[in-house]
Amino acid sequence: MSRGPSLAQKCQFVFAAAAIVILAGALVVPWLRLEWVVDESQRETSRQLAETWAQNGFALTRTAGIPIPIRVVQVDQIESSGISDPFVDAAERAFSANPTQTEVFEAVQSSEGMVYRYALALRETQWRAIQDRQFVDFAARASDVALGDPLRAVLVIERTSQFAAGQIASNRWYLVVSGVVAVVLAVVVFWWILTQLIFSPVRRLRDSMERVRRGDLTVRSNLRTGDELEELSRAFDQMLDELDRVQNSLRAMNESLDLKVVQLSEANVGLFESNRLKSDFVASVSHELRTPLNSIIGFAELLVEMARKDADADPKRQRYAANILTSARMLLEMINELLDMAKIQAGRMSASVVTSSIADLLEGLQAIMKPQAMSKLIEMEAEVEADIPSVETDPGKLQQILYNFLSNAIKFSPPGSTIRIEAVHTTLESRPAVRIAVVDQGPGIAFDLQETVFEKFRQIDASHTRSHGGTGLGLAICRELAQILGCTVGLISEPGRGATFFVTVPVLYRVRERKPLLPTAAENDGRSRSAPMG
Ligand code: ADP
Repeated sequence: MSRGPSLAQKCQFVFAAAAIVILAGALVVPWLRLEWVVDESQRETSRQLAETWAQNGFALTRTAGIPIPIRVVQVDQIESSGISDPFVDAAERAFSANPTQTEVFEAVQSSEGMVYRYALALRETQWRAIQDRQFVDFAARASDVALGDPLRAVLVIERTSQFAAGQIASNRWYLVVSGVVAVVLAVVVFWWILTQLIFSPVRRLRDSMERVRRGDLTVRSNLRTGDELEELSRAFDQMLDELDRVQNSLRAMNESLDLKVVQLSEANVGLFESNRLKSDFVASVSHELRTPLNSIIGFAELLVEMARKDADADPKRQRYAANILTSARMLLEMINELLDMAKIQAGRMSASVVTSSIADLLEGLQAIMKPQAMSKLIEMEAEVEADIPSVETDPGKLQQILYNFLSNAIKFSPPGSTIRIEAVHTTLESRPAVRIAVVDQGPGIAFDLQETVFEKFRQIDASHTRSHGGTGLGLAICRELAQILGCTVGLISEPGRGATFFVTVPVLYRVRERKPLLPTAAENDGRSRSAPMG
């Protein structure tokens, strides 16, 4: 950034300009008055000369040889000889026209210097007094001059003075010189005041601020000028003290935060490790539980079969055996879910992707679910849109997702209702995909709970759901499996009007990135009830 003139230079320039203008304005009056003063003093000199001359009753004929050119021109001489002196003519005319006028004065510039011409009116009474040698007291006679006293002669004094012109010139020169000196002195004094009293402390303050800007909070300006600048400096220093204090406490907080972060990350590592151990434990325990449970189921099936075949058997025996079988199957299902979730969490669940036909998949699924649906007199119908393509996916895991949707649908649908399975074309992130939806006529899910049903161990705590049992892991597993398959799962439901659970499968398999642990702001804002979860 190119810097213009400094503040001191600007002040100096403005002050100098203002001083010149003010002084020039102040000196213009004496400059003009000077000429007038000199003229007036010349007039006064001429007047005194003329009056002295007249009062002393000079001999009018003895003017020759006098160093001062004094002439007495009588009026009749002017009229008869027609003296061609324009000044005398003009004076005579002025005196004749105005009986109270006693003098005429003029100053003319000539090559030899200033020419001062003075004319004094000598009227009849005055004239006679001068002629009459007895009457020396001219003043007494002169006071008799009155209107009607005719002009008798004009006394003319004409002097050339080089001194007067020189006086004017030299005085003007003095004026200019003293004006210039005054301006220079004023500017110097102003400059000293500006730099010593104002800018020197201001510069110190600025230097301190510059050091603070560079991060040095130990600097203090400590001005001792005893004026407002000292107050400003004190306030600035106090602000720095406060800043220093805040920075120190922030530094201390930062250090303790760093420590906390280290502790947290250590705790996090510990948690992660114990979570992994827990998942490993659950996985191995679940696995170990399945073996005896399968044997219980096998023997329970045998008992049921034997009781069924034995006509004499106590009906209670068959019922008890059937109960053992149902409970063992439920237990196995729960253990399977726990095992799946543990595997997923331990990162041991992977997809084996093959090209799979949607129609075949749905057909197999219907066959598996049919007995369960029939036991509740529920109809199942599948509707596959024409030209549905095969998809690249892990068919076992996709089937597990749909199995969960269907078993929930059967669980929550009223007897005699219909469950529809629909497969339609759609897109997922602008790529071709197939959406498979399970539509039931059950109680539906309240809007505010639709977001949470896909979370682990979430169950809607209402009588109709609690009565159906379950772990609350089914939909969470669906979501995790969908993530592994690059699919999304979602739900559309209105309470009392059934629920539609769907999975959207891309036609071409692509591993989707896992979601970060903390949801981003955009995700928080963009959530909606029917937003797919993957
Ligand atoms: P669960 O093992 O309890 O079925 P899920 O994760 O499969 O666990 O389901 C979570 C909860 O979502 C269920 O407890 C139930 O309240 C609700 N739910 C799931 N599917 C349906 C449905 N088709 N109709 C009504 N509620 C459902």
